[in-house]
Amino acid sequence: MNHVVPRRYRVVDNVEETYDTTTLTLEPIDAAIAAPAPGQFTMLTSFGVGEVPVSVSGDLHEHTSLVHTLRAVGAVTTSLATARPGNVLGVRGPFGTGWDLAAGMGRDLVVIAGGIGLAPLRPVLYAALAAPSSFRRVITLIGARTPRDLLYGRQMSTLSARPRFDVWTTVDHPSPDWCGSVGVVTTLLERVPLDPEHTVAYVCGPEAMMRFAAEALLDRGVPAKQVQVSLERNMRCGAGLCGHCQLGPLLLCRDGPVNTYDQVLSLMTTKEL
Ligand SMILES: Cc1cc2nc3c(=O)[nH]c(=O)nc-3n(C[C@H](O)[C@H](O)[C@H](O)COP(=O)(O)OP(=O)(O)OC[C@H]3O[C@@H](n4cnc5c(N)ncnc54)[C@H](O)[C@@H]3O)c2cc1C
Repeated sequence: MNHVVPRRYRVVDNVEETYDTTTLTLEPIDAAIAAPAPGQFTMLTSFGVGEVPVSVSGDLHEHTSLVHTLRAVGAVTTSLATARPGNVLGVRGPFGTGWDLAAGMGRDLVVIAGGIGLAPLRPVLYAALAAPSSFRRVITLIGARTPRDLLYGRQMSTLSARPRFDVWTTVDHPSPDWCGSVGVVTTLLERVPLDPEHTVAYVCGPEAMMRFAAEALLDRGVPAKQVQVSLERNMRCGAGLCGHCQLGPLLLCRDGPVNTYDQVLSLMTTKEL
């Protein structure tokens, strides 16, 4: 029952990250949902408009509030992204599998994000910041379509100034004043020194980008079971009941979205219906 009926949450903050992407902070009105783990998602309802899956993007150690970063692509995400402080939304969850942070303990973390894929990965970076001695290096590679699409700009520059944290950024289409790298995110990976046996990678973005990134990591010698990807196929119930998100033997809302690449390698060429 807990997973079927949305709990009411109030919007307490709405931060415009880019021209189409917004971060919402929500506080519970009804009993709060269970604390989500990094990589998990909730089903967010804009009452009268619809419900969509959205990953948690906040610092899960510090806050009791829920933080979600949304790219407005259609009716529901646009309605959610334009919710103002005081507006009431529905929340079900948390659902799905999370990033396996224990797998990265004592190792190098390579975080690879394409576009809005940085949002579900941000809790991995918060977790690494909260326990920096648990990891060796934390290398974040970010790809975006244009400089205007880069998320969390100030936060990422602060992160890159910290010892053992590196942030590398690239864009597909540079603006005239862009001085950084140009090209897909895998071009950054070619330049990163890797210790493959002691690397755990966390990858989120468009599926083609995840496949290329995962294959590039494998080519560099990182074992497939040390590469985690988030398969964000369309979902409805969130609880493994409706079958909407079935991919081969997996119901991605329950058995995903996060899986190791060895588990999903053969499934990632299946097109969404
Ligand atoms: C587990 C999970 C976590 C997600 N986390 C986030 C997040 O943190 N932030 C965020 O902005 N979005 C996230 N999404 C995507 C978000 O759920 C979709 O953008 C949303 O469902 C679109 O609904 P809509 O009514 O606004 O647009 P629609 O009219 O349903 O779709 C608009 C366009 O977006 C495409 N689209 C819809 N769903 C997806 C999807 N899952 N992947 C790729 N393209 C899609 C449609 O094909 C269409 O072209 C996540 C999806 C899943 C499954």
